[in-house]
Amino acid sequence: MIEKKKRNIFQIIDDWASARSLWLLMYCTGCGAIELPPTMTSRYDMERFGIAPAGTPRQADILLITGYLSIKTLKRVIRAYEQMQSPKYVIGLGSCTINGGMYWDSYNTIKMLDLYLPVDIWIAGCMPRPESVIGGLNKLSDIIKAGEANGWKKYNENLKWYRANQKKVIKKWDLPEFNY
Ligand code: SF4
Repeated sequence: MIEKKKRNIFQIIDDWASARSLWLLMYCTGCGAIELPPTMTSRYDMERFGIAPAGTPRQADILLITGYLSIKTLKRVIRAYEQMQSPKYVIGLGSCTINGGMYWDSYNTIKMLDLYLPVDIWIAGCMPRPESVIGGLNKLSDIIKAGEANGWKKYNENLKWYRANQKKVIKKWDLPEFNY
């Protein structure tokens, strides 16, 4: 549990500015990814909210996971997340990231993303429409502005717990222990 600390004026300004300029790395594993082109382009135009796509994890603030993750893919997602610089945020898009969705009894997909990575915002649905994606992004922006998007701190403070969960499903663990 992360305690809410009192912010000084510089932190408040910093959080306010961060919330208005977010770079998004889309990890398009699941079918929900098909809703992202209209979210980005002229119909819904997410850039009007100060959110733009990022090309690599190093330049990204948000990691958007668009649905089910196979165990093989989870490994790449962890690698991408740990390459991002803090502060960084995770969005779980679609029911598959919340409880496994329609893949809940699959032999090679994970069921709950937040056992492996700290999810700041969930966007429920199968598949969530662009309005929901925009709603989720705006909600994330609000909690960043309020200084409450602390998933990345939770990950650092509870790294042992996350590693144990990750290694439980990824049998061939060949990632560096500290990847950032
Ligand atoms: S939640 Fe639905 S749309 Fe999203 S990845 Fe799962 S099955 Fe596909």
